[in-house]
Amino acid sequence: MTKSLDPSGISSLTTVDATRCQWCRSPIAQRSGAGRPRRFCCQSCRQWDWVARQRATELALSEDELVIARKELDALRDQVYVLRCAIADVEADLDPSVDPTTRDFKAALKWLLQAAKPLAQDQLHPSPSRAA
Ligand SMILES: [Zn+2]
Repeated sequence: MTKSLDPSGISSLTTVDATRCQWCRSPIAQRSGAGRPRRFCCQSCRQWDWVARQRATELALSEDELVIARKELDALRDQVYVLRCAIADVEADLDPSVDPTTRDFKAALKWLLQAAKPLAQDQLHPSPSRAA
């Protein structure tokens, strides 16, 4: 399974690529003064990017392709599905026809956070090499 690292249609984001980690896409605070701009937010991101590039070379993939394990992709899709359900539930909870005094905002926010938190963690990594 291949996954594009540079989804087309988000070209407006490319203008800020220089300030985002090349692996996890987190914003990077650049150091002032001379020196090369930082490309990764941390050492582990630098290593995952290196591993991914090694795997891409082994598998003759293009610069923009990445192989991830189906298990990881399925887990990500499951988390997105849970988040989609939470969003639908919270949107229903916020229906203006519902009496505001009977709404449980705290429970709705708790459910939304519970669904969103797993997605906030970077979990996509290249598949291990079969040759290893
Ligand atoms: Zn990073």
